[in-house]
Amino acid sequence: MLIVKKFGGSSVANKERIFNVARRCIEEYKNGSDVVVVLSAMGDTTDQLIAMAEDINPKAKKREMDMLLTTGEQVSAALMAMAMQALDVPAVSLNAFQVMMHSTSRYGNARFKRVETERILHELDSRKIVIVTGFQGVNKYDDITTLGRGGSDTTAVALAAALHADRCEIYTDVDGVFTADPRVVKNARKLDEVTYDEMLELASLGAKVLHNRSVEMAKKYNVELVVRSSLNDTEGTVVREGADMEKLLVTGVAADKNTARISVIGVLDKPGIAFNIFDTLAKNNINVDIILQSVGREGTKDISFTVAGDDMEHAIEILEKNKKRLTIKEVSCNPNVAKLSVVGAGMMSNPGVAAKMFEALYNSRVNINMISTSEIRITVLVDEKDIDKAMNAVHDGFAMGE
Ligand code: ADP
Ligand code: ASP
Ligand code: MG
Repeated sequence: MLIVKKFGGSSVANKERIFNVARRCIEEYKNGSDVVVVLSAMGDTTDQLIAMAEDINPKAKKREMDMLLTTGEQVSAALMAMAMQALDVPAVSLNAFQVMMHSTSRYGNARFKRVETERILHELDSRKIVIVTGFQGVNKYDDITTLGRGGSDTTAVALAAALHADRCEIYTDVDGVFTADPRVVKNARKLDEVTYDEMLELASLGAKVLHNRSVEMAKKYNVELVVRSSLNDTEGTVVREGADMEKLLVTGVAADKNTARISVIGVLDKPGIAFNIFDTLAKNNINVDIILQSVGREGTKDISFTVAGDDMEHAIEILEKNKKRLTIKEVSCNPNVAKLSVVGAGMMSNPGVAAKMFEALYNSRVNINMISTSEIRITVLVDEKDIDKAMNAVHDGFAMGE
């Protein structure tokens, strides 16, 4: 039996927690399993490192940011190996270079291309617990990269897939995947199971309990995930293919505050304009989400869309630079917005979900700025100040807690 166990930052935040994780892993090891442990940086180390960088150079190069941020995971991996050794269990810590976790070259947002297994298998063969740094990869320039915030989950799934692990367990600071963020929605309920597709939507729409790429990869390689607490023994949530699962009308609600709205005003109302605008953004690696176009008047129209909050300034810079070519009269923006989404595979066959969501928002007097839908989700854009209220209203409107 080969098991990959991933522990998030809060699970290794201090000495006591490190030993708690060490003991949990040792228990599994002593039962005869091969154990690979993936760790995040301790507590809020990553945030602190980002703050240090901003203090030195607010425009720090992404390469150097990755060099800095990956130190956090190396600290926790080394300390974990030391803790296990202190408990008389053989353990070895490895970083992305030592394992060889090949990634694309994009600093700050790299993707895994290939993961080598030789070194890990060799260490497991000599009955060691293998501890691997989460969140990092190595690109073709032999530079260290990071996978984006929350990326340690993806390291765990990539290793589970490459090693054909029997289990992949993601340990965190809540008991599993809930119908909404349990820190915001009091009535949120833990789900026993959730499908890859639903989890992918929830994760992509702001439920940071799993990194969205970890879910994408788990689906692709059919890695069943269990999300559970590192602090108790409660059974967690299983993420898997859902053919035989009960299709709930709505499974969960997610909120994303890292969102900004941009409007381009007065562009020419003729073919090719939207293409040019979004092509220009895409070529600059800016992802656009909800798009709304006004009806044309006097030969011009307005287009509004959302981007990740971190991309807003860059997007505006690009639009301003290309204003003339893109026929834009004016660019405006609003960073104080948030996305609220409901997700559920049952939506496909049930009309009225949107109406119900809008009713819940109306009842709590939350105004909707933009709307977008897919087969299994509905997303609305609201003012950021309303997001917690809106999330509770929609969650309870669908009686998800019951
Ligand atoms: P870790 O450090 O273990 O990776 P994260 O902070 O990345 O932990 O993710 C866990 C957090 O995700 C929880 O503390 C919770 O506040 C938040 N969260 C958001 N949406 C959900 C949800 N639907 N279910 C569970 N947790 C959620
Ligand atoms: N330490 C990284 C972060 O805070 C990666 C992770 O926790 O998954 O984003
Ligand atoms: Mg996380």
